[in-house]
Amino acid sequence: MLLCKEPETIGNLYKRAADLKLRTIGPKVHLRGLIEISNICRKNCLYCGIRSGNTLCERYTLTDEEILLCAEHAYSAEFGSVVIQGGERTGKKFTERITSLLQRIKLIGNGALGITLSLGEQSEEVYKEWFDAGAHRYLLRIETSDPDLFRKIHPNDRYHSYDRRIRALMDLKSIGYQAGSGVMIGLPWQNAEHLASDLLFLKEMDFPMIGMGPYVPHDDTPLTQMAATDPTASFPSVADRLELSLKMISLLRILVPDINIAASTALEALHPKGRIMALRSGANIVMPNITPSDYRKYYNLYDRKALLLEDLDLGEVEIGFGEWGDSLHFNKV
Ligand code: SF4
Repeated sequence: MLLCKEPETIGNLYKRAADLKLRTIGPKVHLRGLIEISNICRKNCLYCGIRSGNTLCERYTLTDEEILLCAEHAYSAEFGSVVIQGGERTGKKFTERITSLLQRIKLIGNGALGITLSLGEQSEEVYKEWFDAGAHRYLLRIETSDPDLFRKIHPNDRYHSYDRRIRALMDLKSIGYQAGSGVMIGLPWQNAEHLASDLLFLKEMDFPMIGMGPYVPHDDTPLTQMAATDPTASFPSVADRLELSLKMISLLRILVPDINIAASTALEALHPKGRIMALRSGANIVMPNITPSDYRKYYNLYDRKALLLEDLDLGEVEIGFGEWGDSLHFNKV
């Protein structure tokens, strides 16, 4: 299926996945208000625009008041839950700041907002502290389940370890988080076998939520430069990466019908209706960006995301307003 180029077969795949979603988890789409709290990161992933080594990236950190205002906005707009996302940072001061923010967000509407964190790899103790403070979902993408490909797209040092990433995911699960992961689609050196293995990996790890998105090259990154000079590092065209991403969403929906699958923002960097296309292919979660627009342009993980200031047009779907939209799969487990 990943290699199939037959439009009718591909269309049937999307339709089958969308029908399965409808039958298994119903017609609703749930929203997560995405708050990008800072683009400062200690890591240096070779594909990432906010990597620590990118001196061209202007750094920002939202104040506590700005973050709380975003959360209040999500509550008033009945988003049901928020995602607190930022570059990976560690240390007591950072940990305690997040703990205090979680406790304060939990006071909004008397605990009405569900909270997902996306703050990278942390120690088990830190994950536990944040869980006890009110976070109940955590996103940590593996990016690729293939250890060799993982090594190719990350610096070769102890801060970027495949095994450490797996360990962190296991910690999150054992603490009781709904742990979400996902992969990048259309990477240099990646082939259909890698992607097929990714799907099986995500199923075997039993993640209740998944965020997968296309690789979107960023000009100021080593991976883009490597792809330009190394013929073995070429990657699929925009149209092919879009198609592959939608196929991956559909195939995963068929493999594990009752999980939450996000229609990733990165899809809209490839096509203006990318997220709607993902919802029609089996995805059921949308994460509208509610970071104040002044800061949004600095969170450029990849080119063009900075231009995506328009909120999603959700005219054609049913929204689960005010609901956390937890994964049915997690509740079953
Ligand atoms: S991908 Fe994530 S961990 Fe890696 S540099 Fe970017 S923000 Fe940091």
